[in-house]
Amino acid sequence: MKYITAHIGKDLLIGHGTGRTVVQSMCNCDTNDIDAAVRQCLELYGSGCQLVRLTTQGLREVESLGRIKARLRATDVGIPLVADVHFSSEVAIAAASVADKVRINPGNFAKDHEVARSQFRVFLNECRKHGTAVRIGINHGSLGARITELYGNTPEGMQQAMAEWVDMCMEEDFYNVVLSLKASNVPVMTRAYILLQQWMEERGVVFPLHLGVTEAGNGDMGRIKSAAGLATLLSKGIGDTVRVSLTEPPVNEIRPAKIIAGFFDSGMTPQNFLTGDSNGTPSFRLQCSDHEEFIVKASCILGPMLVNKEIDDFSIQCSYPDREAGKEEIEQFKSDIMQATRRRITQCEYIACPSCGRTLYDIESAFNEVKRRTSHLRGLTIAVMGCIVNGPGEMADADYGYIGEGRGKVSIYRGREAVVRSVPQDKAIDVLLDIIAKDGRSTDGRPRRG
Ligand code: SF4
Repeated sequence: MKYITAHIGKDLLIGHGTGRTVVQSMCNCDTNDIDAAVRQCLELYGSGCQLVRLTTQGLREVESLGRIKARLRATDVGIPLVADVHFSSEVAIAAASVADKVRINPGNFAKDHEVARSQFRVFLNECRKHGTAVRIGINHGSLGARITELYGNTPEGMQQAMAEWVDMCMEEDFYNVVLSLKASNVPVMTRAYILLQQWMEERGVVFPLHLGVTEAGNGDMGRIKSAAGLATLLSKGIGDTVRVSLTEPPVNEIRPAKIIAGFFDSGMTPQNFLTGDSNGTPSFRLQCSDHEEFIVKASCILGPMLVNKEIDDFSIQCSYPDREAGKEEIEQFKSDIMQATRRRITQCEYIACPSCGRTLYDIESAFNEVKRRTSHLRGLTIAVMGCIVNGPGEMADADYGYIGEGRGKVSIYRGREAVVRSVPQDKAIDVLLDIIAKDGRSTDGRPRRG
């Protein structure tokens, strides 16, 4: 088996055998606001982030990325920078000479597939010339018609969409590559990565994997969803770098990511915390410094067992330095992880992007308000997305979407269809609730009979 190690910047290695899981995050400010971007990069670096990504939607942002990099290097901060490019091969090619790594989905380079392939070739050559690494990132919900017509919007489709680009990298003898297949649905995401890992192993060449649950949301649920998904893969030895995506300030992503990475890098297993087993219902006890550590570690232990359907129930206790975790806290965690792993749906499900330089409204407070007003809609999935360019594609299987359109304006979606456009943000939640009510889904999210 040939295991590939990606080299990013001066000395960051990602891949099998490096002995550690690399923790990364992404700025959510405007990349052209150099001061704000440098500030976020320094804050992330100071908290232990090893790789930071910035939105790079145009040539102006490529130039800004160069300035941010120069400012960081001038203060002796060598954290590698990743350009996040979505559609334009021209921008990706330009970014290859500035960034340490470029994240792209080559399928989006052009409508004509042959054109996309030839632009991808040019892009790889440019990366080779500058020693720049590549992440090929394909997300659930952004698969093209070529794939969905054959495989549907499925983990199999995600793996197949990736296969072609991996083959092209190998044809071009370009191996400085990391792959990702993210989804907000934990079982879909874990299945896609497992299929990709199996496919690579059958071919004898294993590229490093960047793991992430996209649009995981915020608060406890965002952390639990991410930890459950990442842990399901890391416990099988799948995955080399992680991002915990939260709709919160980027620095908040680092501690949960470090707890997850540390759990598996140090070889911990559920056995370390097991205190008993009663008729297939295991009991665990943890000692944690605070609530965040508890929910993340407990998700590392229980997430894989629930996703893999090895258990249907569990009991857990946790002691903090000054108290025992209360009954309500434990019950809420149980409800959250059952929902996150899709084993028991008792809540409204949320998909919320972490936001990035493309977001032109205050998504954090909008998301909290949407949650406050819709939490009774058990069984519904509501997406809150930062931009109209990628939001509709990335909200995957949501029933309704609240999507930032521009400054202060929101589009409301029902499934994949925009029902109302350009609603002022202060009226958008009322419009969303009105549509849900007219659809007969305002009591507990299920369609009304008759
Ligand atoms: S959906 Fe959110 S994270 Fe994705 S590009 Fe748009 S604003 Fe950025």
